[in-house]
Amino acid sequence: MKPVIALVGRPNVGKSTLFNRLTKSRDAIVADFAGLTRDRHYGDGRMGQREYIAIDTGGFEPDCSSGIVQEMAKQTQQAVAEADAVVFVVDVRTGVSGQDHDIARYLRQCNKRVFLAVNKAEGMSDSPLLAEFYELGIGDPHPISAAHGQGIRSLIEAVLADF
Ligand code: GDP
Ligand code: MG
Repeated sequence: MKPVIALVGRPNVGKSTLFNRLTKSRDAIVADFAGLTRDRHYGDGRMGQREYIAIDTGGFEPDCSSGIVQEMAKQTQQAVAEADAVVFVVDVRTGVSGQDHDIARYLRQCNKRVFLAVNKAEGMSDSPLLAEFYELGIGDPHPISAAHGQGIRSLIEAVLADF
């Protein structure tokens, strides 16, 4: 069985950029995978010999209606329920936000393995800015740059080490 990795986080942190980097076939629908619903983005990925399935979430822009916010929360919850592991993506440039705390609180009580990816951290693998993210209570921050391809291998190796 390929492990299923859900990418969650508030809008604009870089989940879709990370998804595209983790998967070869963009927006692939994994139709033959029992139990997966089809209203999110699934893609097959590979790291060396190890294969996995990534799920992108939040593939639409939030607007002023609270219905959209609820829909995003529901989408995140469904993806987490389907996943074997969760990558919680945050943004080093904005720092920790209230929405990050809300998502972290949800993820802490989900009984899934959660990995904290601090994105947009190109050239910042040792930055003191990373320390702030410990306050989310998710564990060690993994600095990555989804856009520039930095830190991705080490993040995914940590995720796949559990399987
Ligand atoms: P999503 O809403 O979480 O799916 O975020 P997107 O993947 O759509 O990215 C939001 C914005 O952040 C886009 O303008 C991306 O180009 C930018 N972005 C994503 N990853 C990185 C990164 O590693 N570094 C920088 N500097 N920008 C990034
Ligand atoms: Mg997106």
